[in-house]
Amino acid sequence: MNLILLGAPGAGKGTQAAIIARELSIPAISTGNILRAAVASGSELGRQAKACMESGALVSDEIIIGIIRDRLAESDCANGYILDGVPRTIAQAEALEENGIKFDHVVSMEVSDETIMDRMSGRRVCPKCGASYHVVAVPPKKEGVCDVCGSELTTRKDDAPETVKARLAVYHKETEPLKEFYRSRGVLRPVEDKGSVEATSAAILKVLGA
Ligand code: AMP
Repeated sequence: MNLILLGAPGAGKGTQAAIIARELSIPAISTGNILRAAVASGSELGRQAKACMESGALVSDEIIIGIIRDRLAESDCANGYILDGVPRTIAQAEALEENGIKFDHVVSMEVSDETIMDRMSGRRVCPKCGASYHVVAVPPKKEGVCDVCGSELTTRKDDAPETVKARLAVYHKETEPLKEFYRSRGVLRPVEDKGSVEATSAAILKVLGA
C-alpha cells in the first residue's frame, strides 16, 4: 500500500506515520527527518537545506525530488510506504506521478491552526533517530530521553512560534492545493483530529480499511 500523510506542520503526521508503519509493516519516510539528519552530519545536502529549514521555508523541489527518488528505490519500499511531509508542492506531486508512482490513499489530517500553535511548544524530537514526542500528549517513558534509541531529546529550532506561523502560511499556500490534486484523482481521505493519538490512529486505519 502506498500512502501519503498530508497535513499542516504539527498536525501529528510523524506520530501517526510511525503507528501506521508498525500496523501495516511498511516504512514511514519523512523528508524532514532525512534533511535534519543531513544538517546534523554537515553534508553538502544539509548545507544547502539548513537556511530554508530554519526560516520555515520549503527546500527546493529539485532537492526533495532527488531525495525521494533515491529513498523509494531502496528495497524496504517494495511492498509500499507512507510518505510523511512529502509531497509538499504540486510540482513534487507531479514529479512522483511522472516517475510512475501512484498512491492508494492520501490521508489529509485536519487540525486547526489554533490547535497547532498550542501543540508545537510541547513537541520534542530525537536528533538521532527522528522519533517524535509531546510533553503532554506523547511523553517518552523517561523524561527527555528517546524510547527508541536512548538519545537526549531536543526541541526543533523551527518550532519557535514565529517560525510556526511562517510554516503554516507556507502550508496553506503551497501544500493545501494538494488536497484538490488528490481529490480529483479519487484518493483523498480527510480525517479530523480526534484529540488523542489513539483515537486519530483508529480513524486513519478505518479510512484505510486496515
Ligand atoms: P518537517 O519535519 O516535515 O516539518 O520538515 C521540516 C522542514 O524541512 C520544512 O519546514 C522544510 O524546510 C523542509 N522540508 C521537509 N520536507 C519537505 C518537502 N517535501 N518539500 C520542501 N521542503 C521540505
